[in-house]
Amino acid sequence: MYDIVIIGAGITGSFIAHKLSKRQCKVLVIDKEADVANEASMANSAIVHAGYDPKPGTLKAKLNVIGNRMYPDICNELGVQYVKSSAFVVATDASESRILDTLKTQAADRDIECRDITGDEARELEPNLSAKVIRALEFPTTGIIYPWLVAIALMEEAVLNGVELRLSEEVLSIDRISQESAHKSSPDSCDSASEGYRIHTDKGSYECRYVINAAGVYADDIYGMALGHKPEFSITPKRGEYYVLDEMEHPVVSRVIYPVPGPAGKGVLVVPTIHNNILLGPNSHIADDKEANNNTADALSYVKESVKKTVDNIPFDKVIRCFAGLRPSGDTGDFIIEESKELKGFVNVACIDSPGLASAPAIAEYVTDEVMKEQFDYDRKTTYIHGKPITYMGALSDEDKNRIIADNPDYGEIVCRCCLVSKGEIIDAIRRPVGATTVKAVKKRVGPGLGRCQGGFCEPLVVDILAKELGIDKTEVRYDSKDSIILMEMTKSVNKKEEA
Ligand SMILES: Cc1cc2nc3c(=O)[nH]c(=O)nc-3n(C[C@H](O)[C@H](O)[C@H](O)COP(=O)(O)OP(=O)(O)OC[C@H]3O[C@@H](n4cnc5c(N)ncnc54)[C@H](O)[C@@H]3O)c2cc1C
Repeated sequence: MYDIVIIGAGITGSFIAHKLSKRQCKVLVIDKEADVANEASMANSAIVHAGYDPKPGTLKAKLNVIGNRMYPDICNELGVQYVKSSAFVVATDASESRILDTLKTQAADRDIECRDITGDEARELEPNLSAKVIRALEFPTTGIIYPWLVAIALMEEAVLNGVELRLSEEVLSIDRISQESAHKSSPDSCDSASEGYRIHTDKGSYECRYVINAAGVYADDIYGMALGHKPEFSITPKRGEYYVLDEMEHPVVSRVIYPVPGPAGKGVLVVPTIHNNILLGPNSHIADDKEANNNTADALSYVKESVKKTVDNIPFDKVIRCFAGLRPSGDTGDFIIEESKELKGFVNVACIDSPGLASAPAIAEYVTDEVMKEQFDYDRKTTYIHGKPITYMGALSDEDKNRIIADNPDYGEIVCRCCLVSKGEIIDAIRRPVGATTVKAVKKRVGPGLGRCQGGFCEPLVVDILAKELGIDKTEVRYDSKDSIILMEMTKSVNKKEEA
């Protein structure tokens, strides 16, 4: 019997699990994917937006502003990178300039730092900004992160402090259970309320007092499973597609460049990443189904044409990859974060589309300290174990590198030539508390395959290391899901009997 089961280990579920891991309660996190942050929390623009544009009075507006202020300290505590990149929202004509007036007022109302500058002043700071730009608002508190690394670090620390995590396990149905069958995990961990839940997955069943539904695009389906009928909200996945440009010494921009927002959202952006790549995107298009995170030629050409309106000299010959993500967009336009009116103890954290990433730390606080304040009033743990940040050899001085290599020569053996990732870093990624079990999970933690060759050189070596570390055959190593087979069989094995 668990006190709380969280369905979904995206950025939302990870922040909530981390928050609850500081309390004396028994928490289980279930995710159908092979890794933490594998869905919307993996494929997005990775921006901690400043919070000037969500509609006034919405949860999005409130939680984005708070989340943006929380991120730098949280990333610092977790030992993951947070770069305060700043951003320009640019106008190219008078009607767009009027939209900037509204954003400027909203920023002032929300106490968000904002600088109003002319097109020429903006071009002095960003020389590749289009000559068509006549005015820009600068938002210096805009940040960039690697969202999956934040989620992984949060979940590692949560697991070190007693949270249980079950990956590759899909929730299939949910029953309500009454007081008689709902046992308490500890005498003082549950109060005397009457209901609980039994969650059935493809691998087992779990009983709990409270459910937190953080299931991204599937949050409406998960709620429907527990209700036994269609819920009052529905989620329509909106796909956003991107180009990724290769790492460059002098990327085309150093700040995030937004056009003015429109009915489809923030528009198509030019986004620097922490490692000097550039993301171009996303568009916004209703996807056919909740798994349709594929790229399309039409959307990519739309992205290409759109970014040319704000930034010149984009080196499209440096594209190394395209990807797409699905926004879990709800029909109310706002986040839905509340205890169900029909199901006591069932908390929906649903319709978390943009700015869900920027808001995630504030969403977790809102769930535990406002929505479920009384129910989650568990005592604080007296001791807490902090996670160990990942060691990135590329970020170290030669002295430190030599010291580590002397101690463990695996750190001197380069596996990924594009991103200079060593065997030692890959082994660490596999052995960590929420260890990587797939090629993609290794890539998310330490980067082999993120560079120019996209794994062409290093992937077979990563497969080899995974097989050895996990004690499985190479043909059992997967890129990501159980269906993403890399090796079918050994083509060069010698059948000793036939040979004889
Ligand atoms: C194209 C795009 C760009 C974006 N850009 C930004 C940005 O720059 N800044 C920003 O603030 N926000 C951005 N967002 C929004 C942000 O990415 C999301 O709000 C956030 O990632 C949502 O996180 P989540 O944890 O709620 O959902 P998810 O990350 O989708 O996690 C939900 C989890 O639930 C699991 N799950 C679902 N069903 C089941 C089941 N039956 N059983 C078990 N597990 C299940 C899934 O496997 C998944 O891991 C963007 C989104 C997209 C798609």
